[in-house]
Amino acid sequence: MKQYLILGGGVVVVALLGAIGWVLAIKRKGSGAAVTGKLATSLKDEKAKSDIILGAIQDGVVLIDDQQVIRHFNQGATNITGWTKQEAEGLDWQSVFKFTNTKGETTPAEQTPLAKAFSSGLSVRDNTISLSTKAMTTVATNFSVSPLVNAAKRTTGMVAAFRDVSEERAEESQRAEFISTASHEMRTPVAAIEGYLSLALNEKVATIDNRARDYLEKAHSSTKHLGQLFQDLLTSAKAEDGRLTNHPKVIEMGAFLEQLAQDLRFSAEKKGLFMEFLFGNSQIKDASGNNGEVRDMNKVVRPLYYVQVDPDRMREVITNIFDNGCKYTEEGKVSLGLTGNDGVVQVYIRDTGAGIPPEDIPHLFQKFYRVDNSATRTIGGTGLGLFICRKIVELYQGRIWVESELNKGSTFYINIPRLTSQKAEEQMAAEAASPLGATTITSSAPTAVSTTASA
Ligand code: ADP
Repeated sequence: MKQYLILGGGVVVVALLGAIGWVLAIKRKGSGAAVTGKLATSLKDEKAKSDIILGAIQDGVVLIDDQQVIRHFNQGATNITGWTKQEAEGLDWQSVFKFTNTKGETTPAEQTPLAKAFSSGLSVRDNTISLSTKAMTTVATNFSVSPLVNAAKRTTGMVAAFRDVSEERAEESQRAEFISTASHEMRTPVAAIEGYLSLALNEKVATIDNRARDYLEKAHSSTKHLGQLFQDLLTSAKAEDGRLTNHPKVIEMGAFLEQLAQDLRFSAEKKGLFMEFLFGNSQIKDASGNNGEVRDMNKVVRPLYYVQVDPDRMREVITNIFDNGCKYTEEGKVSLGLTGNDGVVQVYIRDTGAGIPPEDIPHLFQKFYRVDNSATRTIGGTGLGLFICRKIVELYQGRIWVESELNKGSTFYINIPRLTSQKAEEQMAAEAASPLGATTITSSAPTAVSTTASA
């Protein structure tokens, strides 16, 4: 409701600006003084009304013109930022609005919601950003910016609405802290129980009868599930508040996947599924489902697909999605593919399994979302894996999405920005020169593969 009021306020201001222009035009044309006077009065009334509305809104509402200058600054904006209307109006928005991210780092001007809305001409919402006030304190805010676009599709200004969400964010962070601590504490005893159950089931260590074995096997499987749940909870809590360990470095995706494919093949074959690795022989897809430019991949000189990611995190994402492919596929194959164009490296994982109903697809990457069907009821899972995958991919400005057909199979796509060979080489030289002496994936040994992301 508040949002509508705010946008409504924006519309009033825009209408006012339009009307001012109209009156001036009439004046220029020399129309009668009586008409002009009448219009000026009604305009004054409208302005008084809009001032009352905007002043009564507790959220900050700001109107910025096409020169990026603040033209209207309501009382809500003053309460949040500490800048008065008189001080802020007439200033460039960048002098008043300074943002920081969740880690307290200054957000470069071009990455702020205001700059994004202005340059893209699209509405932008940001509920993770914080604002530095005039007194240099930090206020957690929700920002919603709507560009004002004229008939010629030119951005003529913006209306920004924002709220102080410090309390909500503090509560959220306490909740995440609690989940993190609780899952960390519970993971330890669960790991011990799992270990002892494994020992009890080990014929070389313990002698048990068949009935006891049956009970212990069930207990072991449930304990494993519980351990997985705590692990996933811990990872997702960290992913949400930006505490996920992340050491990005330059990797060449082709070499990286070749190494990983061996482990993935093993998990597919364990379930009697065929596994294939497809390199560069596919059209690149975009998130809207369109086929992009077709790349005629040279099979002799392989393209080098450089990206900058944490290889452990990337391995977690691909393994998780591949394991899902195996989990939800009864027969057929699970393929791992790599393709790309100048700007993007695309990894895809395709299965011939159960498929996903279209109505579930928009929710699939949300926390705890599981499709409610016979397959998921019998197959264990936490509904956190894809959420964690999305969070990791977003760390690298990437995108993840799925296309699926019921009873035919699903394809998960991961797009990561591609580095040019020159940029990759420069970056690798900088990594080699850094005190940590980071190495690239082509020279590092593969590490153990876990089925879900580890914190
Ligand atoms: P889970 O632990 O339940 O597998 P995920 O977050 O990994 O959680 O996946 C969420 C849901 O998406 C799953 O419960 C399942 O319903 C659906 N899903 C994921 N991958 C596939 C797939 N390859 N085929 C069919 N359904 C899938």
